[in-house]
Amino acid sequence: MRSIFNILKTFMINRSLKCQNASNLYDLYYWGMSYDSNNKMSVAGLQVQDLLKQYGSPLLVVNKERLVEDALSVQNAINRCGRSSKVTYSYKTNCIPGILKELHDLGIGAEVISPYELWLAEQLEVPSDNIIYNGVNKTEESLFRAIDMDILSINIDSLSEVETIVSVAKRLEKKARVGMRLAFSQSTQFGLGIDTGEAMEAFFRIMKYREWIEMVMLHFSVTSNSRDSSTHCHYAQKALEFAKAVKDKIGLTICYLDVGGGIGVPTSKNMSSLEYGLYRLFGCLPKPPDPNDFENIGTFISRIQSTVESTCKRLHLDVPSLIVEPGRFVTSRGEFLLSTVQSVKKKTNGARFVITDAGRLSITYPMDFEYHAIFTAQIKNGRQMVPQNLMGRICTSADWMAKNVLLPELEEGDVLATMDAGAYFSSYSSNFSFGRPAIVMVNSAGAAKVLREAENFEHLVAMDTLFK
Ligand SMILES: *Cc1c(COP(=O)(O)O)cnc(C)c1O
Repeated sequence: MRSIFNILKTFMINRSLKCQNASNLYDLYYWGMSYDSNNKMSVAGLQVQDLLKQYGSPLLVVNKERLVEDALSVQNAINRCGRSSKVTYSYKTNCIPGILKELHDLGIGAEVISPYELWLAEQLEVPSDNIIYNGVNKTEESLFRAIDMDILSINIDSLSEVETIVSVAKRLEKKARVGMRLAFSQSTQFGLGIDTGEAMEAFFRIMKYREWIEMVMLHFSVTSNSRDSSTHCHYAQKALEFAKAVKDKIGLTICYLDVGGGIGVPTSKNMSSLEYGLYRLFGCLPKPPDPNDFENIGTFISRIQSTVESTCKRLHLDVPSLIVEPGRFVTSRGEFLLSTVQSVKKKTNGARFVITDAGRLSITYPMDFEYHAIFTAQIKNGRQMVPQNLMGRICTSADWMAKNVLLPELEEGDVLATMDAGAYFSSYSSNFSFGRPAIVMVNSAGAAKVLREAENFEHLVAMDTLFK
């Protein structure tokens, strides 16, 4: 039994190494970066190793030029869809105020899912008609703020929310603008089912209270890391068919269709369930994504828009304004993680364990189920490419970063750059035994600015009453 497992494991790992070797993802160009003439990785003319020396390891680095380029590409695409169409950035994807500020300066709005995120959008002075409040856990207090601020839409996620919103609106003597999150499947905890009749029931309730509540938007968010627009288009049609039923039964026209997030990036991908299972079982990394096999963002958005237009024509509906709530697409590529090799352990069977100061339990959690490219910060000639297990800094065997990843043979002190750290790395990060790392932003002129300082020991006990 054991030997069959080992034969399979060797086969699967060798297969993975072949795919890694044949990948065309090994070009920093896709992230707007390069190696300089000294073979050192650089961003906007700065060597990343110098950043690490100055700000400490591990370190998250935001490449402003890349961030702005990606943000503007989706903003420009949506601008071509009509005047009231909007991009609202999903705060939960990377909720660092210094990053959010850059996006808002470009005119991008805020999609928030918690009272904290709503508060942050207000602190960042996001125009209220550029804020959408989603989520399954909206407190009464936060609804009070949202209605008082007169945000674009509070998207109802459960039937009872209708009454809560009405009671807050009455207290404020203000009318609440709402949308509704639709559920299309049996396996989601989000939204109101069309097939269960819940969604239509919510509409009837809203009409009963129309003095206090106005329905403006249908919303869904059903996918993640999509490489083309087909899923968004499919569900946009379903949502519009529901809008048609609403119009026929109630006579109400919906102004906005919000197709949620879930736009992927060329340079990273979700593991399929099979790839995830095999990675767990054998430690074989899945095939890297092909960055060229990705629908251009302009095409992505325009296909959704033309699906909306043609479906409305077929159903005799007015065309609603399109809203997208991208998270990953906007910030993923514009940030990378630098970490340092602490030690290397070689086993008699050839396995290598490289201890780094990152790891999935505190910084790189998304690498558990997503493929991320990893580079060495310096190309050193004469080093062989070998499979290595990159491990984390916490004393548990569950703290890995990547298994059997093909990289030049690593040595103590080497610096690694993990790409696409701009989506969900900070959000999921924890202070498990160590403080969270600093985040710096580099602009196109090569100037670095600290967005968030590294957590020190005092930060870790700041809320402990024993120390107060
Ligand atoms: C997380 C989330 C998004 C963003 O998803 P990405 O996959 O990062 O684009 C958008 N809308 C809602 C409601 C979300 O929960």
